[in-house]
Amino acid sequence: MKYVRDIYAARKGSGRPLVSFELFPAKTEEGEKTLLERTIPALLKLRPDFCSVTYGAGGGTRDRTLAAVERIQNQYGVPMLCHVTCVNATVEQTSAVVEDAVRRGISNFLALRGDPPGAGEFQKTPGGFEFASELAASLRARGGLCVGVAGFPEGHMACKAGKYADWQYLKRKIDAGGDFVLTQLFYDNAFFLEFYEYLNAKLGVTVPVSPGVLPLFSFAQIGHITKLCGARLPDALVKRLAELEGKDEALAAFGVEYATRQCEELLKAGVPGLHLYTLNKARYVSQVVRNLGLA
Ligand code: FAD
Repeated sequence: MKYVRDIYAARKGSGRPLVSFELFPAKTEEGEKTLLERTIPALLKLRPDFCSVTYGAGGGTRDRTLAAVERIQNQYGVPMLCHVTCVNATVEQTSAVVEDAVRRGISNFLALRGDPPGAGEFQKTPGGFEFASELAASLRARGGLCVGVAGFPEGHMACKAGKYADWQYLKRKIDAGGDFVLTQLFYDNAFFLEFYEYLNAKLGVTVPVSPGVLPLFSFAQIGHITKLCGARLPDALVKRLAELEGKDEALAAFGVEYATRQCEELLKAGVPGLHLYTLNKARYVSQVVRNLGLA
């Protein structure tokens, strides 16, 4: 299977950004059927450059993540990126997951620390990795793999030393083994543009950094997402969302329009790709990609 870093390299300078979709492994058989028979085929009509599958909180979806990546890769031939975390696992257990994935033909990994299930603070497992940079380094040392890492345009929530310290840790993570960066979602491009400039101009980052974008489509989702990842909503967006309270269809249409405008501005800034969070729904991200003329 193609390495994601080679897809970025082949596209460099072409003016055509990569489009990638993030999915999560279905929890039920019915959910898996929908994912494989409806969501994925709908997303593949847009010819994404790669898709990724998350690894559940606390490492809880190990088997379902690997199975989903393997099945989508084999059934549809689309390059796949497998998220892997080191929370709640020893180094040996994490390596065993990676080797299992490699046996299944998986060669692209997003090296993450992961969060424990629930709201608790991360605790290093005795004999485990403390930071994603250590996992990235071990994947690089293994060889034969392509490794992505996560970036946080607003700074990582748990980084008490602030966003600039977090961005310096990101640079170390890239140097340790990251071939490319996918970012946390955000709703104010100013955060990403400062982060991008800082990485490129101040820290000398040269690997591709693709922004993560999630079109808003439900009020329940907004509260959950912002709490989970700490994304701050600009005042104008909060005001508009208040006007749309109770109007679900109008909210989804606005979410698509907002994400389209966000992506247009990011593309103008020269980002190498767009990483679209789907929440396993093809409809909204498809509309964004079509609006951008990238389908
Ligand atoms: P790290 O890079 O290890 O950073 C964790 C914290 O440690 C940060 O606060 C950082 O500033 C700090 N830090 C890093 N290095 C050092 C150091 N040397 N010294 C001191 N402090 C340091 N989670 C999942 O559970 N499953 C997923 O599939 C998943 N997918 C994701 C995909 C994307 C694109 C993104 C952006 C996030 C994803 N996450 C996922 C969430 C992620 O696991 C959490 O945000 C986690 O808390 C941080 O992961 P990390 O890989 O950035 O960790």
